[in-house]
Amino acid sequence: MQGVNGEDLQISGLQHFSFCRRQWALIHIEQQWSENYFTADGNILHQRSDDPFATEKRGGLIISRALPVRSDRLGVSGTCDVVEFRSSPGGVPIAGREGTWLPTPVEFKRGKSKENDADRLQLCAQAICLEEILCCPPIERAYLFYGETRRREEVALTHELRDMVEKMLIEMRALYDRGHTPRVKSSKKCQSCSLRDICLPKMEKNRSAREYITSIWDSV
Ligand code: SF4
Repeated sequence: MQGVNGEDLQISGLQHFSFCRRQWALIHIEQQWSENYFTADGNILHQRSDDPFATEKRGGLIISRALPVRSDRLGVSGTCDVVEFRSSPGGVPIAGREGTWLPTPVEFKRGKSKENDADRLQLCAQAICLEEILCCPPIERAYLFYGETRRREEVALTHELRDMVEKMLIEMRALYDRGHTPRVKSSKKCQSCSLRDICLPKMEKNRSAREYITSIWDSV
């Protein structure tokens, strides 16, 4: 599912897209970004696992950090915070390691478990990418680790969740290839949105963020 210009969509975009289509477009199409408490805190948490290609072995477990993944079929790529490879007779070989292994992605998040599927969608997309690049059997479960509660949540990678990922990526691809940013749709979510100041939901219902910023520059 490559786009017209061959660029991959980012896996991390799934959480933005499921939160707000416009927020995703501002970040991934218009390249706008605004650091607020929520995203800054999340970045700090991620830095702990961002040690590219670092691996460690603990008994029958290999832990790989900041592992790049992609799916040619879905036209999407990203980085897994952590992938745990468990020794298993039904697994796949890994370069430089004896035996066969089954991967389980683990994603680090700030806060606590959410009611919406944003984090689960991102995690599921990582698993789909791992299955494609490793040619391994379907990954049945993965984990989210939440910084606030310090707990791991098991996520079942069901057909329904996989379908949601694929449908969302199709929708994202269509918008991305058209370079289209959806218009403001104010909701309760805007209060915690990291792009609220750029999106200006109350003032700018009819113009894109780019048009608004251009108008500010034109007036100084
Ligand atoms: S401020 Fe509201 S409409 Fe604008 S990007 Fe954020 S959530 Fe979406």
